[in-house]
Amino acid sequence: MSGTVYLVGAGPGAVDLLTLRAARLLAEAHIVFHDALVPAPILALAARAEKVAVGKRCGRHSTAQSFINKRLADAVRQHRIVVRLKGGDPMLFGRAHEELSYLRAHGVRVEVVPGVTAALAAAAEIGVSLTRRGAARSAAFVTPRQADGEAPNDWLRAVLAADTSVIYMGAGDAAAIAQALLGAGKPAGTPVAIVENASLPQARTVYGRLGELPALAAETGSGPALIVLGEVLSEALSAARRATARKARAG
Ligand code: SAH
Repeated sequence: MSGTVYLVGAGPGAVDLLTLRAARLLAEAHIVFHDALVPAPILALAARAEKVAVGKRCGRHSTAQSFINKRLADAVRQHRIVVRLKGGDPMLFGRAHEELSYLRAHGVRVEVVPGVTAALAAAAEIGVSLTRRGAARSAAFVTPRQADGEAPNDWLRAVLAADTSVIYMGAGDAAAIAQALLGAGKPAGTPVAIVENASLPQARTVYGRLGELPALAAETGSGPALIVLGEVLSEALSAARRATARKARAG
C-alpha cells in the first residue's frame, strides 16, 4: 500500500484561518508530522491521527531534515493519508523543496495545500495594505537567516528594491538587521513594525523607525514575530505615537 503525503499549510496560528482542505485532511489523516509552531487547537482537528512533532524552532531541539524526509517516506508505505503540517504556507521559508524533491525521487505521491503566510496575517493584524496605492507597488518577503553551507543570500538588495518588506525569522537579530540595512543606505527614518503572534489573541505590535529597531525588538516577547518595513506603515506609526502620547498625558 502507498498513500499520499500532503504538505499542508497550517496558517499563522488561528484555527479558523486554516483552509477547508487543510481541515478536511487533518480530520482524515492517519499520521501528522508537525512543526513546533503549530498550535494545539489545530492539532486537535487531527483527532484520529498519530501526531509526531518534528518541529524546528530556532534555538531549540530540531529534527534533522534528512530524518524527517525518511520518516515521511516510511509513513506513506503504511498510511493512506500522511500530513506534513507546516506553519503559514509550506512554500515560503518552510523547507518544502527538500521534502518534495526527496519524496518525488522516492516515487511518493505528494500534494501541497497552501496556507495563510505570516506576512499576510501581519498585514491583516495591523490593518495595513502592503501594496497601498500611491505608497507601494511591490512587497518583498525575505529572511536574513541561512542554513549552514548555503550560499550567502542577497536579502538586503531585495529590501532596498521593494517598497514594502517583510522580514521572516529576523526579530531575534534586529540589531544586526538594522545595522545591515542602514549600512546599505536604507533611511533611518523608514517606518517599521514588529508584529508578534499575528492572528492570535496574544498578538502584539510595536511601531517605530528603522533607527530604533533594536530597541523595538527588545520590547517584544518570545512569540514568532515579523519585521515589516516601509512607508505604508507611516499612518499606523503616527497613530501609535499619538496613542502613546495620550496615555502618557493621562497617566
Ligand atoms: N512558512 C511560514 C514561515 C516559516 S518561518 C509562513 O508562511 O508563515 C517562521 C517565521 O515566520 C517566524 O520566525 C516568524 O518570523 C514568522 N511567523 C510565523 N508565524 C507568525 C505569526 N503568527 N506572527 C508573526 N510572525 C510569524
